[in-house]
Amino acid sequence: MLTNLERIINDIETLSQFNSTPGKGLTRFSLTKADRGARDYLKGELKKIGLKVYEDPAGSIVGRREGTDKEAPVVMIGSHFDSVKNGGNFDGPAGVVMALEIMRVLEENNVKTKHPVEFIAMIEEEGGRFGSGVFGSRAMAGRVSYEDLLNNKDADGITMAEAFEEFGFNPEEIEKAKRDPEKLKAFIELHIEQGPVLEKEGKDVGLVSFIVGINQIRVKVKGRPDHAGTTPMDMRKDALSSASEVIAQIKDFAVKAGSGTVATVGTLNIKPGAANIVPEEALFSVDIRSKKLDCIKEVRAKIDSALSEIKRKYGVEYYVEDMLMVEPVELSKEILDIFKEVSEDKGLAYKEMISGAGHDAMIMAGLTDVGLVFVPSKDGRSHCPEEWTDYEDLQKGIELIYHTVLKVGDKK
Ligand SMILES: [Zn+2]
Repeated sequence: MLTNLERIINDIETLSQFNSTPGKGLTRFSLTKADRGARDYLKGELKKIGLKVYEDPAGSIVGRREGTDKEAPVVMIGSHFDSVKNGGNFDGPAGVVMALEIMRVLEENNVKTKHPVEFIAMIEEEGGRFGSGVFGSRAMAGRVSYEDLLNNKDADGITMAEAFEEFGFNPEEIEKAKRDPEKLKAFIELHIEQGPVLEKEGKDVGLVSFIVGINQIRVKVKGRPDHAGTTPMDMRKDALSSASEVIAQIKDFAVKAGSGTVATVGTLNIKPGAANIVPEEALFSVDIRSKKLDCIKEVRAKIDSALSEIKRKYGVEYYVEDMLMVEPVELSKEILDIFKEVSEDKGLAYKEMISGAGHDAMIMAGLTDVGLVFVPSKDGRSHCPEEWTDYEDLQKGIELIYHTVLKVGDKK
């Protein structure tokens, strides 16, 4: 292999030390002391390689290596360097270390590419501090305004604008983080799978073709509170027993929609919530995800008609509130084909996958061609201190992207 396992291990272990909760997993919120430590380390390593290093107005780190054609659009590689609270060492950093190691190998081997290549370490992907996720990539897409920075606050009431200023950035320049799609050739991300499939199936890498769309709704079914002993069964408006009829069908709706569609009722609250009162209200959430927008709409329509059915049968009322709607994203077929070709060439066992979680790649797909590679997560664990990827597995993913960069960047 061209990449160096020792360096990869050292990068991950060094980054894991920039942590505000040692002993309780990794917590690295944006624009904190831990962020500063990781930021300085990454910038230092990029400078050692001899790259042009800077931070964009949103605080994401960029290390640029020119191509033989300076005007050619750039191939960006990377991921995010913030974490959730009490998370692990790999969600984000795995992809940042991928980009760092690839930059080193390009330089060591004096590789010439037509297209410039940029290392990217995105800020605030998790939204852990300011509740504003995929921030770095949204800023690149021109989807963040100065007003957003004034409105986004952390738990202590510090606005993102104040935090930016304290860190030496000018928040009023945030909109300059926008990248011109004409000047982008591709964005390639590596991320841990955060699920158990690759490990279970003994695959080296997951090649992502779609990132799912998500529709989250909150449903309220309203009946009438009555005495649980004296009200006959046929004279009740029981919110919970009515809602249950809908909830029980949701699994089926998802299965029938096909294309890997999933639907989850993750919360359920009953009011007033006493053993001897017929429930007046049942509140529940539904999270519907699919690679096909039509499938999401189909499940949603069936839920609506099941609700109108219980209204007709039992005389209950219902209200549906949309909490989140994100359309599915299809990633670049061209890059996916290159991933497959390189995997076959290098003897890597791959699996084409759908990502059930959003990543910076999802936002970048609105700007340029995007490729996303997953590496295995031990026991599928993530967003917890136990999060782990074997370094050898991480290295395989990095090698795959290295050879892909040579093709996409047009090696001379
Ligand atoms: Zn992540």
